[in-house]
Amino acid sequence: MSYDDTNIFAKILRGEIPNKTVYEDEYVLAFHDINPHAKCHVLVIPKGAYTDIYDFHANASVAEITGYARAMAKIIQMLELEKDGFRVIANMGDHGGQEVPHYHSHILGGEKLGQMVSKTS
Ligand code: AMP
Repeated sequence: MSYDDTNIFAKILRGEIPNKTVYEDEYVLAFHDINPHAKCHVLVIPKGAYTDIYDFHANASVAEITGYARAMAKIIQMLELEKDGFRVIANMGDHGGQEVPHYHSHILGGEKLGQMVSKTS
């Protein structure tokens, strides 16, 4: 899938749409999800134009991948989630239920989370 720069996260990165920023550096932007599924629900997006987790892991530079990983640790610490735990989700494509075609990780925590996956039929 080619990257569509009209997606909502590309607009957020360009400053065209506001967001509730948690953390920002040269590699990532992290902000609160507009429709939280847990007490704490933060999205972490790379600044590079990657459609999904597969695209990012296959094509991002080592610096981008390392920058993203280190930023995740900083954000987890800022949110004080490392002691009690949390969940990270990256939806991809049709089966994964991805809505926004710019790679993002969901960080969910702040309370006990339910079942990891609920089967839809
Ligand atoms: P996904 O289904 O993994 O693509 O998740 C997309 C997420 O983006 C959903 O959890 C939405 O609630 C969230 N979202 C959509 N628009 C915005 C926005 N403008 N600001 C913050 N979160 C958003």
